[in-house]
Amino acid sequence: MMKKELKIKSNKTNQQKQKRTNPLANVFDDFIDFCQSKSLFMLHYCTGCGAIELPPAMTSRFDMERLGIQPMVTPRQADILLVTGYVSVKTLKRVILTYEQMQAPKYVIGICSCTVNGGMYWQSYATAKKLNEYMPVDVYIAGCMPRPEAVLEGLNRLKNNIKNDRKEQKGSAWKDYYKNYDYYLGNQQNLFGKEWQTPVDVIAEAKLYGLEGEGTYGENTKKLKMVQHPLLPQEMKL
Ligand code: SF4
Repeated sequence: MMKKELKIKSNKTNQQKQKRTNPLANVFDDFIDFCQSKSLFMLHYCTGCGAIELPPAMTSRFDMERLGIQPMVTPRQADILLVTGYVSVKTLKRVILTYEQMQAPKYVIGICSCTVNGGMYWQSYATAKKLNEYMPVDVYIAGCMPRPEAVLEGLNRLKNNIKNDRKEQKGSAWKDYYKNYDYYLGNQQNLFGKEWQTPVDVIAEAKLYGLEGEGTYGENTKKLKMVQHPLLPQEMKL
């Protein structure tokens, strides 16, 4: 709960920090970005074979925790969503549900060539090809499969992006999901069918964060409104 409040405050800070004129406030904002980059919880969604590189990256030889990154088992408290390889169409639905449950600011890392362009599954009818068509991706770590050194390099790059977000605007890819929701939703509908919906009200979140843009609404959000209905728990049958 505490972390949630902190994150909401930090989002407000993100929106305000462009307007600041007080140099002390700028120092404070830089300090917040620095702290955020040093303490990241990572949800690793082990979709493909690249996941096998995570145990060595986490354990004593490479020791990911010394970078201030540790695994987290729930999306609601995670900062990073790590997608570790090819994503089947069925799995992608769960990856999107997981991503939408994470609180902003949130970051996505795609490990393996399969998340970049489909990799060796580029012709497969059952596999999503480009992860960034369905959610914003902050860092890709290419390779089949990338070694733990490459995984740590990718994590370090993300940390630097978060730390220098104010100067370089590289750590704000998550805002794109709200600003261009219609684009992402359209790609999701093309893959999953026009009835596709999730329990998260993304448009309401975009309003909350002040991130509504021209791309938030469009043909695809209109289609969503027409089919949207309250999601009910499924009946259990033995
Ligand atoms: S890039 Fe290679 S190792 Fe990674 S998920 Fe695809 S096939 Fe597996």
